[in-house]
Amino acid sequence: MRCFKRAAEAGFVIPALSPEVLGKTFPGTQCRLLDGKLVASMMHDQCRTLVKSKPQPKLVAILAGEDPASQVYVGNKSKTFANVNFASETIRIPSSESTDASLLALVDKLNANPGVHGILVQLPLPASVNAAAITNRIAPAKDVDGFLPLHAGTLATGDFGRFLPCTPFGVMVLLAAYGIPIAGSRTVVVGRSNIVGKPMSFLAQSEDATVTMAHSRTKDLPAICREADLLIVAAGKPNLINRDFVKPGATVVDVGIHRLADGTLCGDVNANVREVAGALTPVPGGVGPLTIAMLCVNTALAAWN
Ligand code: NDP
Repeated sequence: MRCFKRAAEAGFVIPALSPEVLGKTFPGTQCRLLDGKLVASMMHDQCRTLVKSKPQPKLVAILAGEDPASQVYVGNKSKTFANVNFASETIRIPSSESTDASLLALVDKLNANPGVHGILVQLPLPASVNAAAITNRIAPAKDVDGFLPLHAGTLATGDFGRFLPCTPFGVMVLLAAYGIPIAGSRTVVVGRSNIVGKPMSFLAQSEDATVTMAHSRTKDLPAICREADLLIVAAGKPNLINRDFVKPGATVVDVGIHRLADGTLCGDVNANVREVAGALTPVPGGVGPLTIAMLCVNTALAAWN
């Protein structure tokens, strides 16, 4: 897989899954369960092993403001880093002290610190600051989220020697681990955001998929989706995709994640898709854990390549 080349050079491999795991289905269906949590844990194992003989990577997360979801995300990231024996630090700045000047000065300081390999600015930032100016200030060598325009550009031109955004990179690793064919497939990506949909489409194309991008203005979304051998959904709309959108036997990747009023989590894909799909990622336990695992990999690449 072309996009994995840089990771492979650092010693990472696509996880090898047992026949039992490869054959596991959602209960009562013939739909294979693509276990992102397991594949993520296997990437964590690789981090833990590789770091024994290499310098310890360090991530610094900037958490500005009091957004509760951001507190949880950053907390999960730092727990995972501790778990793989990578260093991480969270710098918390209250909204009242979050200004363009203070955050730019902080990013500059971290850029100049050779002991910091990766910098992550947790979004959303307080409304009072210019989020693009802050995130664009991160040094390219430390952009482990892969969100800089430079990295959007190098991905578009097929330069895989740079950072790839963690979520689509994780989806590619999951598909490779399960041996889901991408080359020659008709792939439909629902969602065209800069952090998921667009990079996802470039990565699928790099593996020779024929890619259609769908979005909120797409006409007859169900018909477009039904053409897909591989349907990747990152629309941010709970249960948008149901069984009528899915070609029998297709692989469906659900990037969406939503907390419902009753506290449960769901994705962009309705559970009834299991009745027709050949393979599907669960929510939770699908793409989410892989996003954090690939953040570990990217931080390792920042420190080791
Ligand atoms: P954005 O809101 O930035 O983008 C959503 C995209 O979906 C847009 O391109 C939008 O179209 C399109 N869209 C919205 N409604 C529809 C519709 N009814 N039909 C077709 N397309 C539609 O979201 P993100 O890409 O940031 O995230 C998408 C989802 O993935 C969210 O649920 C998010 O929480 C989740 N996510 C999960 C991650 C993980 O680790 N599991 C990581 C990142 C995101 P248009 O451009 O026309 O507005």
